[in-house]
Amino acid sequence: MDSRQVETAISAMGDAIRHELQKSLGFSLRPVINATGVILHTNLGRAPLANSAVDNIQRTSEGYSNLELDLTSGDRGKRDVHVDRLFQKLFSTGTTGDGQSDRQLSTIVVNNNAAAVWLALNTLAARGEVIVSRGELVEIGGSFRIPDVMAQSNGILREVGTTNRTRIADYKNAINENTRILLRVHRSNFQITGFTEQPALEDLVALARERNLVVVEDLGSGAIFDLRTAGLAEESTVAESLRAGVDVVTYSGDKLLGGPQAGMLTGTAALIERMRKNSLFRALRVDKLTYAALEATLLAYVKGDYDAIPALRMMRTTRDQIGARAEAIAKQVRNSERLTAEVIDGQSVIGGGAAPSATLPTRLLALTAGRKSADSLMAHLRSQEPPIIARVQDGSILIDLRTVSPEHDALIITALQSVGRS
Ligand SMILES: *Cc1c(COP(=O)(O)O)cnc(C)c1O
Repeated sequence: MDSRQVETAISAMGDAIRHELQKSLGFSLRPVINATGVILHTNLGRAPLANSAVDNIQRTSEGYSNLELDLTSGDRGKRDVHVDRLFQKLFSTGTTGDGQSDRQLSTIVVNNNAAAVWLALNTLAARGEVIVSRGELVEIGGSFRIPDVMAQSNGILREVGTTNRTRIADYKNAINENTRILLRVHRSNFQITGFTEQPALEDLVALARERNLVVVEDLGSGAIFDLRTAGLAEESTVAESLRAGVDVVTYSGDKLLGGPQAGMLTGTAALIERMRKNSLFRALRVDKLTYAALEATLLAYVKGDYDAIPALRMMRTTRDQIGARAEAIAKQVRNSERLTAEVIDGQSVIGGGAAPSATLPTRLLALTAGRKSADSLMAHLRSQEPPIIARVQDGSILIDLRTVSPEHDALIITALQSVGRS
């Protein structure tokens, strides 16, 4: 090797080292473009935050904040007050005048809904029995299974009814002096259809009142906005459960609510106070970033500014709006040799614990890349900056723009125009 060759080798090493350094000092957790059309995609971080939520995180966390300080008295305050006042506003509207709506409600926030369910059972079951329908013993992703959470919480699971049919009499017959809770669990990721029966929430509440028990409902997704107006027939809201008289409702912050990861417990103030006093509440509480994001998200609801919340905005986008964008992209990337692109009808999935049947009609960009396999086309999309995540179906790539912000359409065009070029 002469000195010039050595120099070349060394400078190439420099490039390799620079590349390695860039990789190791770059971020591992990065933004991606969600082109799957699954609005609440757990692998992609569930609900994107509202701009106001992101701004509020920045505003309140780059310095100090009054997280636990009452600015009027100067005394120590509670971190929940910042959001409890907004939850009270959201749930006090639409009173039915049945007397139930007059009770004092309050809300506390924990790390996620799994923690909320655990805290409710641990506090209120007190080694007593919790009655659950056999049709509601759900598993939400491997680590959250109602029987296991029950075992960890010191509640004793008492199954009633059958997989497809449970009647109010089944609950009635199972009640004994050790019973503490009637638990209702939302069937977040499966459906039971056909010959089925499930008592109305109101009937469970009436039975609980008569026998001096409490009704806890794991609502899972926790819609605050009535999604029936967006064409989703089956999602009931947190307010409806509270109006039906449920004592404690638990739900996630980053599912249909469209906020940060969190678990809410909303219910009768005296019961919520007992949970706050549970010695493990502190181990489950959330930090200032979560409160900042949650408060801003709830404020958007209070102001009726639903389109500020990305998950809601995506749900309210029409099939025609999505179709027009898909057609515009197809026109620009279509290339008879390297890429075929057509726009077809399809369904967007809500995901994240909305009923599995909860889908919205959409228009999909369907792509095939000549002799390239769908998997290699997917790999090409994932290698973009930011990576683009799409669906594969029957050998085609499907792009659903419902979950793509319109300003990212240009990035998708660039990525697709470069298919097969290298
Ligand atoms: C999603 C879900 C959970 C778990 O909620 P996390 O916020 O993910 O902890 C529990 N129960 C039901 C019914 C759910 O849908």
